[in-house]
Amino acid sequence: MAVRVVMLGPPGAGKGTQAEHLAAHFGVPRISTGDMLREAVAAATPLGALVSAVMARGELVSDQVMVEVVRERLTRPDVERGFVLDGFPRTVAQAGALDRQFGQDGQVIVIDLDVPEAEVVHRLAKRRVCRACGANATETAVAAGRCVRCDGELTHRADDDAEVVKQRLRVYAAETLPLVEYYRARPGYHRVQGAAGAEEVAAVLARIVGGAGA
Ligand code: ADP
Ligand code: ZN
Repeated sequence: MAVRVVMLGPPGAGKGTQAEHLAAHFGVPRISTGDMLREAVAAATPLGALVSAVMARGELVSDQVMVEVVRERLTRPDVERGFVLDGFPRTVAQAGALDRQFGQDGQVIVIDLDVPEAEVVHRLAKRRVCRACGANATETAVAAGRCVRCDGELTHRADDDAEVVKQRLRVYAAETLPLVEYYRARPGYHRVQGAAGAEEVAAVLARIVGGAGA
């Protein structure tokens, strides 16, 4: 049975880190819409040109564009055994599109990472990412000043600036929080405390996803 996971939670909740753990654990791709868009911006593709200003403001790319980007990605052969979606869906309209593709009945496992707002603000202010490969820097890497993966230079993500973070949190509350209502009654919905250490959270998630997929 395919392992299909959706990560929910505010910016800074640890969706990316946990999505990577889960994807590696279950041997399926992590699909991060944020990474896909940042790559498009870096490569100056038409998609990149369309989304760069919106992203810089901390606002959402239109549902129409995002649904098409993800629909296309989910037709590739590497998602046959499943996927971990990180950053999509982010609106009720996007969730509806995903349901039309995969059906509603508990087939998608939804992990809702719950982290207090003060903690996510703190995490995003500290966060550094690799300028070359985009990876989130671990604390060890931040101390060393280089990416552990590719030795690239570490940098502050532009949309992690305090003002943009505020806007992203407002957008999260207005557009993405309603998804909790949308998914909550389903058997595949799991709310998980995300404020614990990354390893601890990863173990909890592997158990949830492993149990649901068995
Ligand atoms: P976050 O840390 O806020 O979860 P992401 O890396 O997932 O950040 O996304 C960065 C930006 O990319 C968002 O602020 C938004 O502008 C855009 N984006 C990513 N995924 C989506 C989506 N599903 N719908 C609309 N916009 C998106
Ligand atoms: Zn790197």
